[in-house]
Amino acid sequence: MVELALSLIIFCLGLAIGSFLNVVIIRGNKGETLGGRSHCVNCNTFLSWLELVPLASFIVQRGRCRRCAKKISWQYPLVELACAIGYVSGFWALFYGNLSITSFPLALAGIAIGIPAMLVIIVSDFRFQTIPDGATLILGLIGFGAVLQRSAAVPGETIRIALYDLGIALLAAATLCSLWYFSRGQWMGFGDVKLILATSLIVGFPAAIAAFLFAFWSGSIAGILLILAGKKQMHQRIPFGPFIIFGAGLACIPQSRLIFFSLLF
Ligand SMILES: [Zn+2]
Repeated sequence: MVELALSLIIFCLGLAIGSFLNVVIIRGNKGETLGGRSHCVNCNTFLSWLELVPLASFIVQRGRCRRCAKKISWQYPLVELACAIGYVSGFWALFYGNLSITSFPLALAGIAIGIPAMLVIIVSDFRFQTIPDGATLILGLIGFGAVLQRSAAVPGETIRIALYDLGIALLAAATLCSLWYFSRGQWMGFGDVKLILATSLIVGFPAAIAAFLFAFWSGSIAGILLILAGKKQMHQRIPFGPFIIFGAGLACIPQSRLIFFSLLF
């Protein structure tokens, strides 16, 4: 019962954070500040607090503005819901994760600010083909924390582990950087280079190798499917940021790494 009540509170917190992320994504892309009241993007009418209740207002208004009846983007409820589900599952992972007292703060930070940062990157890249530096920086800081923690956990191996983690992250970033450079930004944006540096630091060596290839494989499969479906043409760029995050997430699951490395060797 306590668990259910806690989950509900965290779910609502996730909805509220998700609602804020929508503002960050939309206004950030337009170069607007975060201050000022929320308004309909079509008719500019200020929204009342009832229209700002995450998820519920979208459902009650059937996805339309109450004044001008213009359709509201699906981005709003989806980001709110994704953040809420991410928070609740993160909470359960923390709760049952058997974390040591030293690894708890980083795991908590990873969930509390890492999930919002990833959502901002995924949606911004899909909708506007940009990856906000601020969100990448948050992931990069979590990554540095993860490297410190992994290397400090094994006395005597600290320097070796840290060097391997940093080395693989730089190698992944250098590979994307050369793709970005030689294609003149056609295949890849520089935001992808910075993002893979951050996510590789988070997953560390050797998982970062699996993460890198998972990102390429999933991105290629999605690209081929989009071309076959006639939604994209060969020369069009497909946002790669979401696949970098997907690859890193998949590589964090020990079983996936096991299958991956047994395929390789
Ligand atoms: Zn309106």
